[in-house]
Amino acid sequence: MVVEDDDAVADAIGDGLRQYAVDTARARRAGDLLRDHANVDLVVLDLGLPDMDGLDALRKLRKISGVPVIILTARGDDRSIVRGLRLGADDYLVKPVGLSVLRARIDAVSRRALPAPAAASIGDVIRAGNVQIDQYARKVMVDGSSVALTPTEFGVLTALARRAGQAVSREEVMDEVWGDAYLAVSRSLDVHIAAVRAKIGRPGLIATIRGFGFRLED
Ligand code: CA
Repeated sequence: MVVEDDDAVADAIGDGLRQYAVDTARARRAGDLLRDHANVDLVVLDLGLPDMDGLDALRKLRKISGVPVIILTARGDDRSIVRGLRLGADDYLVKPVGLSVLRARIDAVSRRALPAPAAASIGDVIRAGNVQIDQYARKVMVDGSSVALTPTEFGVLTALARRAGQAVSREEVMDEVWGDAYLAVSRSLDVHIAAVRAKIGRPGLIATIRGFGFRLED
């Protein structure tokens, strides 16, 4: 779903993605997104929308849905980017963005949202203290209560949990979650780590190893 009030931009994205065999639905207003989100696989979200700021729409959406969201906006200031990622966007792109880049980001985010690869079988559960990560169901439980993570947050947590107790470098996490073409997302990684820490409610679970990466304590 392309949530975009500018017809020229929305048409360019829709026509362009059709060349890659990606079908798009169009929404002009944030209200359409909040009503119709259940029918789509991924959302490309503009921030300057007529009925609501896109960041407010994202905050509302995240209360009801974990659908992957890529923000696509002219707003390129650090504050907006950090807010967008903190509110649960899986990626953040600043206009203008080439179609091939948008498509690659859509592919990358979609891959993260897919069910776990065949290597993870039913019951493939990682436990670290009071945190339980079900890779197959893509569910995280803390003290028996489920915690809603975005696909990206889940990817980051799982990348660390698979090697619980070991130091994992930033590059390894980014490589696993974003693919090695995305080293530019280094700063986003910290935002996603902070979000996981806040949601899990156990700040010590993920230790930062300065100048290297992270370690999930087991
Ligand atoms: Ca707009």
